[in-house]
Amino acid sequence: MSVAVRFAPSPTGLLHVGNVRLALVNWLFARKAGGNFLLRLDDTDEERSKPEYAEGIERDLTWLGLTWDRFARESDRYGRYDAVAAALKASGRLYPCYETPEELNLKRASLVSQGRPPIYDRAALRLGDADRTRLEAEGRKPHWRFKLEHTPVEWTDLVRGPVHFEGSALSDPVLIREDGRPLYTLTSVVDDADLAITHVIRGEDHVANTAVQIQIFEAVGGAVPVFAHLPLLTDATGQGLSKRLGSLSVASLREEEGIEPMALASLLAKLGTSDAIEPRLTLDELVAEFDIAKVSRATPKFDPEELLRLNARILHLLPFERVSEELAALGLAEADAAFWEAVRPNLSRVAEARDWWAVTHAPVAPAADDPAFLAEAAALLPEEPWDLSTWGTWTGAVKAKTGRKGKDLFLPLRRALTGRDHGPELKNLLPLIGRTRAEKRLAGETA
Ligand code: GLU
Repeated sequence: MSVAVRFAPSPTGLLHVGNVRLALVNWLFARKAGGNFLLRLDDTDEERSKPEYAEGIERDLTWLGLTWDRFARESDRYGRYDAVAAALKASGRLYPCYETPEELNLKRASLVSQGRPPIYDRAALRLGDADRTRLEAEGRKPHWRFKLEHTPVEWTDLVRGPVHFEGSALSDPVLIREDGRPLYTLTSVVDDADLAITHVIRGEDHVANTAVQIQIFEAVGGAVPVFAHLPLLTDATGQGLSKRLGSLSVASLREEEGIEPMALASLLAKLGTSDAIEPRLTLDELVAEFDIAKVSRATPKFDPEELLRLNARILHLLPFERVSEELAALGLAEADAAFWEAVRPNLSRVAEARDWWAVTHAPVAPAADDPAFLAEAAALLPEEPWDLSTWGTWTGAVKAKTGRKGKDLFLPLRRALTGRDHGPELKNLLPLIGRTRAEKRLAGETA
């Protein structure tokens, strides 16, 4: 049996770090097992699903490198859901209910006030044909509930271990709305069964759904997959990350925060596992290290600062070829490997390279506050061509001539050459600045 998993987002909003972590874990699981990864858009909520969100999901996954082997869209499969629903109606597992939302709320409130769990009382099962005819004559349309068996439901969860539910402790779920549209609880099972999904890896907010869905798999004759429910990410204070938290959307991490895909993947693959979080430059390395058994039941905390620190560590390791397009998109099409290697140790985000490009390739107002010393240094500047040894040769000569050393020697040179107190190693920057500019900056001219 070959492993098949799916990531099944609803295109009703932007993907945030919590969703995309589940996508990544599914993808790693598939790649590790040599199985396949399905992207399924759960778009039966037609009021809230939007094409731009569907496109956003594909863009975000592609950016992270999470390619999918198969694609499905639930809105293409209504005919199939209708057929399954008809069969469940015929076998009596789906039964019509007529309560309005207000009536259901009252029932729930009454049970809760008696200290009882708000489980649907199955009143609709006790209706006779005459009752149904009367209710429909009143203009009511039925919604349809799945009749759960009041037996234990058990599974061995790859993260939670043995899980046990009593069917009698669950409400019969509504699978078909009053307008005839099928709901996620049904459509997901039909798809997982039809597309031969072997492992369902999702958030622990779905644990109770799983108990219900196992019974639906059995009722539709589908093979029950293996389940794994991951604890959901929280923020540093333990609050859940809502889908509406735009700042934690993958799109804003990419476009506003300047996060590299491998920084996000390196963090999300390890967060909440027994592995240390380390920068990884390829998804293949994460595949090699992945094991779902390493996922802990403890709630993982997502810290944007930790992501930014990891982003910096990734940039310090990334070769030029991996950022050249991003640099070009920032307007630094002329940047080359020497430039990148000079500045990357000082970056947390690629966009910051623009500041150093301006230092090496645009006029800088120098901080030339020690003119006599700078003039002596300028007189000792070697002839070009310059390379990585030029800085050492030159400052050695300046030291010998002036007797200066350490900060007294280097800081005035840095301030004159770059206009700043800190920055990338001058050994790397000097050849990029070049002799013409260097000479002028040492003379206090903007160049
Ligand atoms: N569309 C569902 C969600 O986004 C999918 C849950 C599942 O993986 O079954 O929560």
